[in-house]
Amino acid sequence: MSRLDQALVGLALAGIAAAGLRPSVCDTLNAALPGLVTFPNTPLYLQESTYWSNRQAELQPSCFVTPRTAQDVSKAVKIITSRNTPFTVKGGGHTGYTGGSNIQDGVTIDLLYMKEVKVSKDRKTVTVGPGNRWVDIYEQLDPLGLSVVGGRADTVGVSGLTLGGGISYFSGSYGWACDNVKLYEVVTASGDILTATPTTNKDLYWALRGGGGSNFGIVTRFDIRSFDQGELWASSLILPGAFNTSFIPLIQDFAVNGVKRDPLAHQYFVMAYSADFGGYLILSDQFHPSAKTIPEPFKPLHQFAPVFSNNTRLANVTQLSRDIHVPGGHRQNFAVTSVAATSAQLFIDYTQMWKELVDRMLVKAAGSHLLPLLVIQPIPTHIIELMQVNGGNALGLKPSDGPLMLVQLSFEWSDPALDATLETEANNMINKFNQVAKQRGLYKGFIYMNYASRLQDVYASYGLPNALKLKLIALKYDPFGRFKSLWRGYFKL
Ligand SMILES: Cc1cc2nc3c(=O)[nH]c(=O)nc-3n(C[C@H](O)[C@H](O)[C@H](O)COP(=O)(O)OP(=O)(O)OC[C@H]3O[C@@H](n4cnc5c(N)ncnc54)[C@H](O)[C@@H]3O)c2cc1C
Repeated sequence: MSRLDQALVGLALAGIAAAGLRPSVCDTLNAALPGLVTFPNTPLYLQESTYWSNRQAELQPSCFVTPRTAQDVSKAVKIITSRNTPFTVKGGGHTGYTGGSNIQDGVTIDLLYMKEVKVSKDRKTVTVGPGNRWVDIYEQLDPLGLSVVGGRADTVGVSGLTLGGGISYFSGSYGWACDNVKLYEVVTASGDILTATPTTNKDLYWALRGGGGSNFGIVTRFDIRSFDQGELWASSLILPGAFNTSFIPLIQDFAVNGVKRDPLAHQYFVMAYSADFGGYLILSDQFHPSAKTIPEPFKPLHQFAPVFSNNTRLANVTQLSRDIHVPGGHRQNFAVTSVAATSAQLFIDYTQMWKELVDRMLVKAAGSHLLPLLVIQPIPTHIIELMQVNGGNALGLKPSDGPLMLVQLSFEWSDPALDATLETEANNMINKFNQVAKQRGLYKGFIYMNYASRLQDVYASYGLPNALKLKLIALKYDPFGRFKSLWRGYFKL
């Protein structure tokens, strides 16, 4: 090829790259990781663009990288950071908002093929790849009579849930998911592959327990505590929404007194508006890892009649997680706050405030799909005590803060024109909830990352010392700020 030809080819390639048709970083990744890079307009690309929320699915990265090993992740990180390319990481892809774990025109590292599930000989540890969904693990552990502290819904990702905290059926026994990770394998911004345990890279270990993804490193392996587990007792009650004023005091009493009588009992309460059910309704989901009949703290909840449905059963975790399946294919938003669990009246008042918001939003939705939820779930004091093991986690909760109640707003909708309105209105509602709680001396302020809106300041809610410590740890493992500037999505320090 003559010099002129070479120059023309070079110019053409540069033109193609500049036009964003096939950016050269993806070609370089493709050369380094053959067969592990997916380009637009291919069937695999469409498959990898599957996210729980359409707000994420509609973004179009320049390519997906699908590593098989930690070494692949390391290679990808080195190439991406050396090219100064914005990127993100997808675990189970259940973040609701735009850009949580997908990116427009950058690179999405999709961990979907890193699906190892390996039980140790002594059955006390399960090594888990970051691309697993919880049901993948439960399907393998149930036949062995084992389980782990993991997510309650089947297709949610192991990675995001565990890195942000992780509320489980088994939290009453063992704390949150992040409190049960024995070892993290992590690819840092330099491409180094480190392990973090209570004794090795202790600071990183602490940060990853609730400090979330997007800041410290890409986790390529979790070693999680496992334990013997058979079928659980579970009950899902669906009742008309009008029962809320008599039902909510029982939920509140459970969070303060019921769990003292039976610390393993676990539940959450949902108020929903569903056109299919003809209006507002209540869903009460209750679980117990060892009971065979209704556990004593739940008995008051079973006195209500008529109920729309009562699904009380013994089932394994795989089945329970499937029962809670929430299909994707809509637009999604969460927002959350936390308050003292001591006043039933607060939750009754919140329900009324939320219903007024929903009535307004239903008018705006003008008949298009809108599913609003108000979710209330306890964080009992003994669970906060369980969080203090192995040096504690990054969430900043102290036993003296408990018992708490998480109050979460969720909107599922179909019309993109409602995105900004629903996000802002949910945030405003949370601010109003906080004002009311402050006036009554019940405000706690902890924002659970995995239920938060992108408009919320999650790290500030962990308390200034923890927020500063997390920043310093991020700086130590990312001294040149590569992840800080290039890794997009979720909550940044
Ligand atoms: C239907 C449903 C049910 C849920 N149930 C529960 C529940 O029972 N308990 C609970 O606590 N929460 C629950 N959640 C919230 C859930 O924990 C969060 O949505 C969580 O972020 C999902 O993780 P993911 O891997 O699927 O998400 P993703 O969107 O893939 O990832 C979330 C964030 O983590 C980062 N990330 C992903 N993988 C890695 C990695 N390997 N290393 C570093 N960073 C990474 C991403 O970049 C992103 O910033 C639920 C959510 C939904 C939608």
